Amino acid sequence: MANVVERAGETTTRSHASSVLPATSPTERLAAPPANIGPSVVARLDPAIRARLPLDLQQAIEFHGHLCPGLTIGYRAATIALNRLGVTKGTDEELLAIVETDACGADAIQVITGCTFGRGNFVFKDYGKQVFTVYSRAQGIGWRVAMRGGVLSANPQHQTLLQKVAQGKATPEERQLFQQAHLARALAILDLPDEVFADIRQVELPPIPKARIFPSVQCSVCGENVMEPRARVKDGKFVCIPCAEKYGRGWEING
Ligand SMILES: [Zn+2]
Ligand SMILES: [Zn+2]
Repeated sequence: MANVVERAGETTTRSHASSVLPATSPTERLAAPPANIGPSVVARLDPAIRARLPLDLQQAIEFHGHLCPGLTIGYRAATIALNRLGVTKGTDEELLAIVETDACGADAIQVITGCTFGRGNFVFKDYGKQVFTVYSRAQGIGWRVAMRGGVLSANPQHQTLLQKVAQGKATPEERQLFQQAHLARALAILDLPDEVFADIRQVELPPIPKARIFPSVQCSVCGENVMEPRARVKDGKFVCIPCAEKYGRGWEING
């Protein structure tokens, strides 16, 4: 996890509102190498498509690894929220993002707002909804952008192809058809007027504590360090959560 920071030779661990995530959270796949490693994803796109992509969206594509409808949904949400706040990434150091999905759009939110999983200003709520809220702590408000249901008409052919591709049963022609339809949907999302794309509301800043620094303690079973508030106790000794769960029966668990 990225929330371990080394300071003056000692390890401490940072806690924040999103760190209630279990260690096995699917959001761990958000972790990605820097975009400048390996060949450019954007460079491999068709030039006609590339010409339609704003530079910051291209950065999100590099981070995410491909262009897809989910990514452009997150991109639209992030840009709408930042525009309403009147800020850009980096001009407001006190932004906070809450995403209600761990689908592709969550990656665009991180790139476009600068709120990232590891910085503690990116909160994941596992609601499975294409809803993204970006707050400015300085302004005390945020904008909640909820993609409207049925904003893109259902495309049964696309769904059928998606199933085939996912199951590895698509022919090369079908794969190409799917890819074309997939990219067309991604681009269509870019062209939707704000209010057609989403329900957009100003919301109050929730009482979310700022990131805190906690000391680490050593797990008496595996020897690895663990942030003190996440530690459990066995026979008066600290243990980490995985060790506590593995050997849980009969142990005194402090939480
Ligand atoms: Zn994607
Ligand atoms: Zn352990």
